[in-house]
Amino acid sequence: MSDINTTTNPTTANSAEEAGSLDFIRTIVEEDIRAGKHKEIVTRFPPEPNGYLHIGHAKAICTDFGVAKEYGGRCHLRFDDTNPTKEDVEYVDSIQEDVHWLGFDWGKHLYYASDYFPKLYEYAIMLIKEGKAYVDDSTAEEIRVMRGTLTEPGKESPYRNRSVEENLDLFERMKNGEFEDGSRVLRAKIDMASPNMVMRDPTLYRIRHFSHHRTGDAWCIYPMYDYTHCLSDMIEGVTHSICTLEFENNRELYDWVLDNLPVPCHPHQYEFARLNLTYTMMSKRKLLQLVQENLVSGWDDPRMPTLSGLRRRGYTPESIRNFCDRIGLAKRNSMVDVAMLEFSIREELNRTAQRVMAVLNPLKVVIENYPDDLVEEMDAINNPEDESMGTRKVAFSKEIYIERDDFREDPPKKFFRLAPGREVRLRYAYYVTCTGVVKNEQGEITELRCTYDPATKGGWSSDGRKVQATIHWVSAKHALSAEMRLYDRLFNEPDPTAAEDFRACLNPESLTVLNDAKIEPFVANAPAGSRYQFERQGYFCVDQDSTADKLVFNRTVSLKDSWAKIEQAEQKKK
Ligand code: ATP
Ligand code: MG
Repeated sequence: MSDINTTTNPTTANSAEEAGSLDFIRTIVEEDIRAGKHKEIVTRFPPEPNGYLHIGHAKAICTDFGVAKEYGGRCHLRFDDTNPTKEDVEYVDSIQEDVHWLGFDWGKHLYYASDYFPKLYEYAIMLIKEGKAYVDDSTAEEIRVMRGTLTEPGKESPYRNRSVEENLDLFERMKNGEFEDGSRVLRAKIDMASPNMVMRDPTLYRIRHFSHHRTGDAWCIYPMYDYTHCLSDMIEGVTHSICTLEFENNRELYDWVLDNLPVPCHPHQYEFARLNLTYTMMSKRKLLQLVQENLVSGWDDPRMPTLSGLRRRGYTPESIRNFCDRIGLAKRNSMVDVAMLEFSIREELNRTAQRVMAVLNPLKVVIENYPDDLVEEMDAINNPEDESMGTRKVAFSKEIYIERDDFREDPPKKFFRLAPGREVRLRYAYYVTCTGVVKNEQGEITELRCTYDPATKGGWSSDGRKVQATIHWVSAKHALSAEMRLYDRLFNEPDPTAAEDFRACLNPESLTVLNDAKIEPFVANAPAGSRYQFERQGYFCVDQDSTADKLVFNRTVSLKDSWAKIEQAEQKKK
């Protein structure tokens, strides 16, 4: 991945931010305010309701809503719903839910480009009357060929010089449904030799006999993005229309439409680099494919980069906003390491998450010298980072579960956890020593025998002797059973979009389900979305599938701070 410029360090991702200065968008906004250009800063977030919002959209939302908020302005939520064949109310609803969840509010400024269809139609008629738009009967393929290439100018359509009257008549009949899909379009009459391909008589309207999720069958001609967007911005009085770099060439058309119509104001478009994340794919079309082909469980599958997926995975709105702040606004496309997103949630949950003990792969341990019916309540710390979260009681008894991975019958050199004859600390409880290993007929370990030292209650010895490891545990008769869904990256290639078929780089181990994990009863009845740190394991949250009878947890992110490793590696490179 040598051609990918990977940003991994949150403190240097944006050097302007580090220096305490503003990003280029905020610099422009401040200059405009100083020059007295606008009474109020007005931005908009313009999703097309053809899919769920993803982490890239979060970047745009934080910018659009963030700038408006910081400068006392307002940000509109506008659905860019001009393509009825791909859009749906399911998406309209999910987008509103996700923007709110992320912590932003459009107040009364909820708009739909489709509400402007009558106005856009009137403006199109004005362009026709001015001789600046014409109806073209060429096929899509003919138009494509006539457009020319980057090195060759385009060719003028034989329909380009139709009279205004003929154009007005044909456009009206297009609107009235007299013509079939694809038989005609309305084009702007600009310049077929323009070095900017976008300016070679772009299509303004096309025919689509298709019901729209809002306007029903009222229209069978639909305006194109470039024509709709600038006029929608103008109608709403948007001052700063912020979008991603791929629209840079479209800015000339944005300005052309506004310059050639009698409009009361002329908003300006600014472009920033879209967010790309390693091991992540953000095209809505491809995400839809994942859903439709059942390669994930839905748009909110916790492996999806969608906001609903991240929410279900256990991400908080704060962690996503912090991540967006940290990466800053760039003018050049780059790839951000997904470890930075993981860093953001880990950092927050470290401060805020309740600790509990959970054993993912249980191995039973019988403490032979512990009284049969005794139950002791041990004091456990709820969050070592936050004393105000207090302590809780954890029941200890003769039979407990420990992690299978915490025992080795024949321990390798650096394995300091439990092994035959070895003493370790059970967190918050006692020192125990392994005295026996029980196996089944297949030779698999089914149970361990241990003894405990009653003088080490709480996990400390009065004689000062040391143990090499502390392991977690749960009391067998008190523990609840739970299903654990361990998520890993959905793709095993840093840039799945570079593959010929992204499905070829799906990670077959992106989900591991553990059916018989054991967890302390503290988490009983926790509502969906509750977040915990499972000691020594990672951060987990209660899934929406969880019930009182069957607890289900999603692993948000492992504890292991791979971020630290990355940082070290980066340091070494320098
Ligand atoms: P697709 O990528 O599927 O073509 P889209 O992501 O452009 O679609 P829109 O609904 O048009 O989908 O996006 C709404 C807004 O979010 C646009 O202003 C767009 O520029 C911005 N946006 C989309 N993807 C990203 C991204 N990866 N990073 C930053 N902003 C983004
Ligand atoms: Mg788009």
